[in-house]
Amino acid sequence: MTCPFLKEGRARYCHAAPVRKLILNGPGVADGGRCASPEYRQCGLVAKHTAQQERCPHLEEVRVQYCTASPVTKLVPFSDSQLSNCTSNSYRYCDSYLLLARPHAMTPPADLLYAPNHFWLDAEESGLCHIGVDRFLTDVAGSVDGVTFATMQGTHRPALALTVHGIEWPMSFPNPMMIQKVNSRVRSDPARLTADPYGAGWLFEGWELPGRTRSGLVAGLQAAAWQAEERERLAREIHETHAPGCDGGQPVRGVARLLPRQHLVCLFQQFFSRRSWTAEE
Ligand code: SF4
Repeated sequence: MTCPFLKEGRARYCHAAPVRKLILNGPGVADGGRCASPEYRQCGLVAKHTAQQERCPHLEEVRVQYCTASPVTKLVPFSDSQLSNCTSNSYRYCDSYLLLARPHAMTPPADLLYAPNHFWLDAEESGLCHIGVDRFLTDVAGSVDGVTFATMQGTHRPALALTVHGIEWPMSFPNPMMIQKVNSRVRSDPARLTADPYGAGWLFEGWELPGRTRSGLVAGLQAAAWQAEERERLAREIHETHAPGCDGGQPVRGVARLLPRQHLVCLFQQFFSRRSWTAEE
């Protein structure tokens, strides 16, 4: 699938110029200008002995792609691969796309798969995958002070540590994938994780290992029911264990910062270190 902000057009450039500069043809722009008229003969780059033609023989035209969401128009010839992310589902993780197309950053895409310790997996038909953590986790944390990636490349269970309220939370996705890269922007700006956990806060990108990467994950209605159960379980945990006497209601966003250290470690182990779908196992 191609990004809706990716457009195609034609651009021209001068073959004789020392630096190739692409100029987009478009409405209101005379295609080729002086270079496409007999006036090209006045150009200093044209050799005097060049045979007289209607347009400059150095004028070239190519098909290009460009991003209409970016403030600076960068033209890329079709033969180059720099815009390959724009022509696959990876565009959903592009900052320019997210800025314009996803006003509701907290709503998860419907086709995500979930692990019992609150990682999500976005697996495309091509095999390309993205992994992040879900809104349940970011609601509990409220804000994240640091992200340290433990696995950066190669075939591993993606692993990292989140620093929340002075405590490091080591976490790992339960299944392996071939990790291609990590989201280094989350490392320098951890607020991306809590502001947009399903988009700008993605954590790992890589390739699915058939029969392994998706193993045991849930999706759709099953995932929605589990998420609702987790919210109920969190409320029970907070009220019964961590805040006895409190008369109910859903925990506030960032509840982790209100708990004493030992309670927070316990909460983390109960919800984000899990390997099974049932709380008791
Ligand atoms: S740079 Fe981003 S917004 Fe622009 S076309 Fe590519 S994926 Fe879309």
